[in-house]
Amino acid sequence: MPELQVLGVVSGSGGDARVAYVNAHVPATDELLASTAPLPPAQVLRLAAKCEEKRCTHFDGVDCRLASRIVASLAPVAEKLPPCAIRPTCRWHMQEGAAACYRCPQIVTNEAERSEHMAAVALGEPIPASASP
Ligand code: SF4
Repeated sequence: MPELQVLGVVSGSGGDARVAYVNAHVPATDELLASTAPLPPAQVLRLAAKCEEKRCTHFDGVDCRLASRIVASLAPVAEKLPPCAIRPTCRWHMQEGAAACYRCPQIVTNEAERSEHMAAVALGEPIPASASP
């Protein structure tokens, strides 16, 4: 992915997973990604890349629908803006404002760490009534 960088480090798992933001531009080099072994990088790191717009299934031509679903379907988990290095260029923040940032720390790159609720939000599917965030 273009301009892949490390947004933060993940702690916890499942619905309790949270991102601790690095608050610096840290390129996700091959060496850095390899350093998480034996764990896959996405289990340890939250990664961010340049928005691919029309090449991404979440982009509707104007907005990122993933960002809209996150704000509509997830509860805030931060009381103040996380110290995030990419805020000036973040599509989620530009589109949804601080509401996206208050929910952002619970988003993890690793699909295996996602709850049923989170997976439905990520995929744009109906959220199961029994699912908890
Ligand atoms: S939504 Fe906010 S906290 Fe999350 S990546 Fe964008 S600017 Fe950073």
